[in-house]
Amino acid sequence: MPGRTRKPYDVAVIGAGVFGAWIAYCLRKAGAGVLLLDSYGPAHARASSGGESRIIRMGYGPDEIYARWSLRALPLWQELFAEAGRPELFHRTGVLWIADERERESYARDTVATLTNLRIPFEKLSVDDLRRRYPQIAVDDSSWGILEPSSGVLMARRAVQCLVEQAQKIGVDYKIAAAQPPRPPSALRSSLRELEIASGDKISAATFVFACGPWLPKLFPPLLGSLIFVSRQEIFFFGVPPGDACFQSPALPTWLILRDEFYGMPDIESRGFKVADDRHGPAVDPDTQARIATPGAVAAAREFVARRFPALKDAPIVETRVCQYENTSNGDFLIDQHPDFDNVWLVGGGSGHGFKHGPSVGEYVTSRVLRAGVLSSSTTQPFAEQLERRFSLATKESVQRRTVH
Ligand SMILES: Cc1cc2nc3c(=O)[nH]c(=O)nc-3n(C[C@H](O)[C@H](O)[C@H](O)COP(=O)(O)OP(=O)(O)OC[C@H]3O[C@@H](n4cnc5c(N)ncnc54)[C@H](O)[C@@H]3O)c2cc1C
Repeated sequence: MPGRTRKPYDVAVIGAGVFGAWIAYCLRKAGAGVLLLDSYGPAHARASSGGESRIIRMGYGPDEIYARWSLRALPLWQELFAEAGRPELFHRTGVLWIADERERESYARDTVATLTNLRIPFEKLSVDDLRRRYPQIAVDDSSWGILEPSSGVLMARRAVQCLVEQAQKIGVDYKIAAAQPPRPPSALRSSLRELEIASGDKISAATFVFACGPWLPKLFPPLLGSLIFVSRQEIFFFGVPPGDACFQSPALPTWLILRDEFYGMPDIESRGFKVADDRHGPAVDPDTQARIATPGAVAAAREFVARRFPALKDAPIVETRVCQYENTSNGDFLIDQHPDFDNVWLVGGGSGHGFKHGPSVGEYVTSRVLRAGVLSSSTTQPFAEQLERRFSLATKESVQRRTVH
């Protein structure tokens, strides 16, 4: 029956990617009545959260706020997986940074300082250590490494699906539905009373949280069209040599090579050795972009692999994925109220590094929406003020200058 108004909720969360799903889960745990909507489904093939795997690491160069948020997030992910009986959704592979004395050295030095400051376990490796422990990787004489032994890989798509199942078990209502862009308010600053969905039905809630990732500019074109940059990103899985465990964990950790701006993972669940180029690709539309790898990206990945992992020079590509980052101007998240509606929140801008932070985003948005003291111990003043400023709409610019990686 079109035009029907559904029962009123405390909060309607639009978007069941990693951000929206964690927000719905945390709000419900804090006692709110929550509806979670998604156009296609949790971590579907077109969502930024829809990949096979995502890195969780603590190193963030000088950006201590994200190091603290990762530190908070990892045990919450593990608690979720334990609660769901799915511990296999986290792989403690360790995360290895390969730095270089010539390029992006300060990022690595800042990472060492932050990890030390926050007492996060890590090991500093010389070039000789790197060559002895990881003969699979070709490193330059000027290279050195940082190993985070407790970090690793979240099995992204299945983790979000597991989270939405757990959220439903504790009382979140979940539905497939496409929210229509809210109409601009008639008064200067008012409340959004109802949200229309594609079927013509209306959703009624006291608060609406739009956690729509790369779709945010399509829902709020005048406001966010020039502030969120959606970029095409291609991922490759290379087949490893038969009978050879040296591209699996523990022989090889998850790795990031700062100079090349490439990162990847060992062969997890026998899917192949994952390689990704972290540089931003061309602008795309998340609904319609082609999900087939391009010859240019294949060539770049092959060149990188041949140079850095020579044993895989002629390895076959066994799988590819095409996804998109939803970047803000500098890589900071967007978590703020809509300037025209006092009960609408905008959450996104994961900028290619957001997945790991899902639990921290969930806790943070819950505390802001409910104005309740449910912030974690890592989110105290003046840290909270810094978060509020960096996540604000006001700090987002229309020209990209990436500083957060
Ligand atoms: C290739 C790649 C590699 C990455 N690697 C890492 C990594 O190693 N570590 C890391 O931490 N992060 C990583 N990231 C970043 C991370 O995956 C994203 O920041 C994160 O998944 C964003 O989640 P989200 O919930 O904001 O967006 P999404 O997952 O895109 O979810 C948004 C949801 O909103 C829904 N939606 C949109 N519009 C509507 C509407 N009108 N009505 C209803 N629903 C709607 C969509 O269907 C979608 O499901 C990577 C990203 C990519 C693409």
